[in-house]
Amino acid sequence: MKDYTESFEQASEYMRIVLPLINKNGIPPNPVHYAVLYAYARGENSNLTKTIDKILKTKGSISEEQSAALYKEHLENEDTLSQKLHENMNTIMESLSVQLAGSSQHAQHYGDILGAVDQQLGNSNSIDLHEVVKHLSQETNIMQKDIQNLTAKLDESTEELERLKKELSDARRAANTDILTGIPNRQAFEEKIDQLTREQTPFCFLLADIDFFKNFNDTYGHQLGDKVLRFVAQTLQKHLKGQDMVCRYGGEEFAIILPETPFGGAISVAENLRKAIQKQRLRRTDNQEYIGNITLSIGMSMYRAGEAAASVIERADMALYKAKENGRNCVIPESSIETESA
Ligand code: GH3
Ligand code: MG
Ligand code: MG
Repeated sequence: MKDYTESFEQASEYMRIVLPLINKNGIPPNPVHYAVLYAYARGENSNLTKTIDKILKTKGSISEEQSAALYKEHLENEDTLSQKLHENMNTIMESLSVQLAGSSQHAQHYGDILGAVDQQLGNSNSIDLHEVVKHLSQETNIMQKDIQNLTAKLDESTEELERLKKELSDARRAANTDILTGIPNRQAFEEKIDQLTREQTPFCFLLADIDFFKNFNDTYGHQLGDKVLRFVAQTLQKHLKGQDMVCRYGGEEFAIILPETPFGGAISVAENLRKAIQKQRLRRTDNQEYIGNITLSIGMSMYRAGEAAASVIERADMALYKAKENGRNCVIPESSIETESA
């Protein structure tokens, strides 16, 4: 279960936002839809908020199907994973504490026996030392076994925790990876650009779009189109280094973030990427036939301290549009920089 720490008044405030949305859109007010719109009212997930804002802006309303899909994409996984981790941790802690309580009782018992023997030795002259040592040795064995059991239990719990940690990080990675190309997806991109703008880290931004890709699909089929998308993604990734990050932004578009990179440096990177794609001679694996060259148009912008992520993206998008107008297969920087550098 997610932690809801807001006050009664705050939660009621969110409810006042959620209920009109439910009524207006004719969505059944069941827990799934309520959770989606409540998360929206709460603004806890920027991707979910952006998606709903976009739906409301373009369509004016949100459908039951869209709400269900948003729940699946943004809330269900998160809930079941953290719930599972929580439950597993509880089981491990409970079993460890039972084991520790048992061990502590045994240690107490052992201490009592040592005390009793000490008293016997002090009080009696005719004590059977052989019997005392035998008894002590038996009790020591029991204590040793107990410690071994406890150590084994601790090792087992550590392994179980490691396994859970890995499961969680695998699930996080899967949620941030594009299935088709294997590179970071739109969600990973949004997280990164939000982080950079929040921290006001300087960066340059490239938006790269494959030229005439619809024609390519129409000529060679969607399957070969998918292969080309994988090839472009891998080539871009191979030619970037350090903190640079390439993500599949959507369809046949890729977003590239170049942190701490000056304007001139970013132009060279963009040119290198464009050339790396253009120079490849691609051949079909089934009949070895050469297929037309793939080219990229790239729009570029530079982050201005204090601005929102959306505006740096928008300027690159406008530059990309100009690159298309300019004949494609070229790099165009945002217009203000073009003027400054002219
Ligand atoms: P432009 O040079 O103006 O960018 O032309 P374009 O044809 O590349 O652009 P348009 O936006 O008209 O079409 C994009 C095409 O990209 C449409 C679709 O066929 C293709 N596409 C988008 N996503 C995928 C995908 O996942 N796999 C495949 N094979 N094709 C895709
Ligand atoms: Mg496109
Ligand atoms: Mg295109």
